[in-house]
Order: sequence, then C-alpha cells, then structure tokens
Amino acid sequence: MEPFIQSSEIQYCDSLTKYSRRKTIPVRVGDVLIGGDNPIVVQSMTTVDTMDTQGSVEQCIRMIDSGCQLIRITAPSIKEAENLRNIRNELRKRGYQTPLVADIHFTPNAAEIAARIVEKVRINPGNYADKKKFEVIEYTDASYQEELERIRERFLPLVKICKEHGTAMRIGTNHGSLSDRIMSRYGDTPLGMVESALEFLRICEEENYHDIVISMKSSNTQVMVQAYRLLVQKLNEGGFKPYPLHLGVTEAGEAEDGRIKSAVGIGTLLEDGLGDTVRVSLTEDPEFEAPVAKALIDRYTNRKNHSQIQAINEYPINPFEHTKRESKEIYNFGGQNVPRVITDISRVENISEKEMKAVGHFYLPELDKWKMNDLGCDFVYSGDNPIPFMLPNGMREIQNFEVWKNTQDQTNKYPLFSLQEFQSSDAFHAELNFLEVLDTEIESASDLVENRKDVVLILKTSNAHGMPAIRRAFVHLIQKNNSIPVVVKVSYPDQTADQTMLYAATDVGGLLVDGLGDGILISLEKEGEHTREEVLEQIKLHNNVSFGVLQAARTRMSKTEYISCPSCGRTLFDLQETTAMIRKRTDHLKGVKIGIMGCIVNGPGEMADADYGYVGSGKGKITLYKGKEVIKRSVPSENAVDELIEIIRADGMWTEPETI
Ligand code: SF4
Repeated sequence: MEPFIQSSEIQYCDSLTKYSRRKTIPVRVGDVLIGGDNPIVVQSMTTVDTMDTQGSVEQCIRMIDSGCQLIRITAPSIKEAENLRNIRNELRKRGYQTPLVADIHFTPNAAEIAARIVEKVRINPGNYADKKKFEVIEYTDASYQEELERIRERFLPLVKICKEHGTAMRIGTNHGSLSDRIMSRYGDTPLGMVESALEFLRICEEENYHDIVISMKSSNTQVMVQAYRLLVQKLNEGGFKPYPLHLGVTEAGEAEDGRIKSAVGIGTLLEDGLGDTVRVSLTEDPEFEAPVAKALIDRYTNRKNHSQIQAINEYPINPFEHTKRESKEIYNFGGQNVPRVITDISRVENISEKEMKAVGHFYLPELDKWKMNDLGCDFVYSGDNPIPFMLPNGMREIQNFEVWKNTQDQTNKYPLFSLQEFQSSDAFHAELNFLEVLDTEIESASDLVENRKDVVLILKTSNAHGMPAIRRAFVHLIQKNNSIPVVVKVSYPDQTADQTMLYAATDVGGLLVDGLGDGILISLEKEGEHTREEVLEQIKLHNNVSFGVLQAARTRMSKTEYISCPSCGRTLFDLQETTAMIRKRTDHLKGVKIGIMGCIVNGPGEMADADYGYVGSGKGKITLYKGKEVIKRSVPSENAVDELIEIIRADGMWTEPETI
C-alpha cells in the first residue's frame, strides 16, 4: 500500500471523503445534454439488425419506454449507416425525439455518413484506423509518429463533418481492442487504454472540436475502474478540457452476474463522483438495461447531504493499481486467504437442516450427510438464534457474545462482540473472535485490537456515503500499521432484490477493487416484517450476491465466468439462448472464463482475458478459441457446444458436473 500520496496530488476525483460530482463540460447530443450540471443520462444499444428498420424502431420504442434517453445502433458498413436515416425518420414521425448514436468499428466511411444523419457517433480508437492483427511490432519513435500521422489523416474528415453538423462523438476505448501500436508501447494496461483515447482527443482539440464524451470500458472491473481514474488524472494533468465520461463494463453477462459486475465497475466510479452517462450492458433484451442503470444512478440524487467524513491528508492506496491491503492471517481470514463470506441467518429461529440450502449447504437425509456447493458460505451469523443441530462439515457459526458464552458445545462456534462488550469481557474464544464496529469507532477499535492475534473486525457504517466512509476507516488502519483482517458489513433494509445486488456490489465491490476487505457480510438485521419463506429467500439472495461480488471484483472465483457480449445488429446467433445453453453445460467449471461473442469482427478482441471463446463467424458457423488462439473454425452451431467442451477437456480443465 506504500507509498502515501498527498491527497492534493490526487486529481481523479474532487474528494475522497465528500461526495462531489466531477464538473465536466456539457456536450449536446440532440435534445440531450451530457455532463455539466445535467443529470446523468441513461443509454443503451439495440440488438436488432440495423437493416431491419421496423424491428429497430419497435425496439427503440421499447427502450425509450423503459427509461433509455439515448440509443446506440451499430453501423458496420455504409448501407447500415445510410439506413440510420430511415430509423431516425420513422422514430421522429412517431413522435420520439430520442437522439441516436451510430456505433462504428473499422469503417471510417460508415462513420462519415452516419455523422451527417444521427446526433452522435461512437468510434473505437483501437480499430478506427487500425486492423487488429495480434502482432507485437516494435515501433521506433519515428515510425510511431508516422502512425499517428496516418491516423490523423484517416480521422480528420470525420472530425470536420461532426463540427459542421453539430454531431457529438464518443471516443470509446475498449480494453480488449487496443491497436497493435498501443499494445507494443503500453501493453493492454489502463495507461494504454488512456493513451489510445488521447491520441484521438489531441486531434480533436487541435481542430477546436470539443463535443466529445470518453469511455474506458473493460470486462475486468479492476482494469475498468483504474482506466477511468487514470483518464481523469491525465486529462487534468495534461490541461485537456474536462470531457464528460460514459461509464460501462463490457460483456458483463446476464442476470445476477451481469448486474453485479456492472455495479462493481460503474458504481465504484459513481462513488468517486465520476460519470455523466451510463450504459449497463447485459446479455438480455436492451429494455432491461435502462432500469438497472437508473437504479445505480438514482442512489446519488441526495448523496451530497451525507454526514461528514474525516478528510484524508495522505492517501496510502494507489487508485490506479490493484494492491491488496496487507492483513495478518487470523484463523482463515486475511493473509493469503480468499475473502470470506459470512451469511446472516439471524432472523430465522430454530433453522432446520433443510433450510441451510439457502446458504449453499445441503443436507441429504437418506445418507445423513452434508454436501456443499460452490456457493456454500464459510460462516453463518446466527446472532441470538443459535443453530439447533450439529454443524455440517465446513460450516462455522458466529453467535452474539451473550449467547455464545452460555453455549455448551463451542466447537466451530465463535463470539461476536460489540465495542463495549469487547472492552469489558474477560471471556474470549482462544482462536477467533469478531468485533463489530462502526467506521466512527475505528480509532478506539484499532487501539484495542492492535496486538491481538485472535480478532477479526466487522466494519460497518451508517453514513449515506458508505463506501468512502468505510474506505476512510481502512485508511486509518493502514496509517496505524494495523493489519487486522476486516470483514465489510453492509445493510439494505427492505430494498428490492435488484437494489440489494447493485448496492452491495457498489459498496463492497468498490472497496475490494481498491484492495480493501477480507470478507463480506450482508446484514438482515433491520429488515421489516416478512414470512419465514421470504426471509429464507433473502438469505439465499444475500449469500449468492456475496459470492457474486467477490467474483466480479476478481478477488474470489467460485463459479464459471461468462464474458458474453450484449449483442447488436452484427450478432450472428441468438445470444441469450446460446449463453443459456453453454451455461447449462459448463456452469460447474469453477474459475474458468468463457467468452460468448456474437461476431468475429469485434468478438475476439472483446473477449479480453477469457480462457475459451465461442464466437459467431458466419450464419450458423462458430469459431472456437483457446485464449486468443483459434482452435476450430466454422464449426456448425449444432455441434459447437460439444466441440467447445472437447477443447476444454483436451486442455485438462474439464470436470464432470456433480449432482446434489
Ligand atoms: S461482439 Fe457482440 S456486441 Fe460486439 S459488435 Fe459483435 S455482436 Fe455486436
């Protein structure tokens, strides 16, 4: 975590402790303003073929009805770029003024046409003037300069057209599709991503064209957060204008995993006060994306009024690089251990063996045995409601201190203390005790446990600016050289399942991205009245979300990771159906990353660090990858999942699924 940085040198956000949205220049996109003091804009992208005018229009309307304020449509070639006019005219005819954005990869000629028709053009600086060859080429300073000249020549006409027509532009860098030139000099690093955008931005600024929004997307949440922060830092240091930011995590996937991954990346930056427009990309119909984006954004409406957090003078965390805070190993927390999941079951009296399936532990009555799946929690917190049967193997229980001290058999049962209880107690567990404190109590707690080798902190806050408040408490521990393991406890009383997922992913995920936290606990404490079944459902949700957050922040891999593109007009197969099919066969492959991409043009680049790839390469044809290497081309789609499994098997990564 060393060295300490003076907080005055941190320019990627206004404040580490006070919520303040970064002030950007407003960029007009039709009737919508992105940046400045304007509310954060929700946007999304169509998945229908751009040549299908009616289908595109119908989908746009469904998206608008779901809260989408800006719609992006792919324009892979001139004919699609031309057809944007028909889509736009039809929408206007039906009374919809929502601005359109043309999505361009590889085809400057399509961009130049689209820029005359729609309100905004998105270019990918990794492939606007470059073809991806996956070649590492050594560039001399002179040849690098020549390349920049070539880009300038290729890009300048578009800038001029945009200026002339009042068209805005997004310079949208993707981690997975950096040019060979950038890769050769910077590698696929956050700095490479930033430089990739700055090459194009400099050309725009020289032309006095400033209607620009910038994005730095990646499917790796750590890389994505670092790249956006570094971008802002470099814009400030380099004297560029404060351009608005478009936030997004690429290829986030579907359902719970896609939402959690999006929130870890987007939410963390929103906490920093960054972001002027948000696109959540899910492998689902696009009308499901806007409500998720809106739920993330709405959290900040009144954030400014949060209670004060002590300012930080010296910052011991590098915001541009993931380094885990060093913590000492206590029992199986901290040190080299993966972050632990503690699941709160404290609201269920006399929980039964059968009900433990909510926390991933399954009782098999015929065999009188227990089984655990990949989402079997490490600890349960039972509070004042101790588990009335013998604990399953691999399960440990945390009880409130008052209950624990009267428990006869204390095997695998550990006490949880409040600060007052801890200060006055003379009874402790010999190996493991939990001390729960608020962020505002961190100084007393830190002094109290400094030299102990049997305590894990459970840290929570009641501050509305939760993630930075907890981060501030971590800063205190680091400054005091206190390496006690810390579990972060969060609480979302009576929020919907979606909100719990998104908020926990933001609050705990944001800390994990900064290397903070040795565990997660989502509290049930303050929840209102619910039936037993509803409480068990909540427990299951909390348990699964906890594992999801750890995985999305890349700190503990407990399930297969799917990096699937959201699909667009280029998609060559039914992505949702295919993803579901692949998932059904492979979701027991813990820690394996599988890319599922709709097209061969962008798919291979966008799969980023997937171990295996399933990429549409023609009608009914799939190309299969191991890493970035093509293993089989043009496999008929009927056999492609079997062939994919064969590749995984040949690679020694296949295991047979177990049935529980
Ligand atoms: S990878 Fe998917 S979302 Fe990206 S361009 Fe291809 S089909 Fe569209």
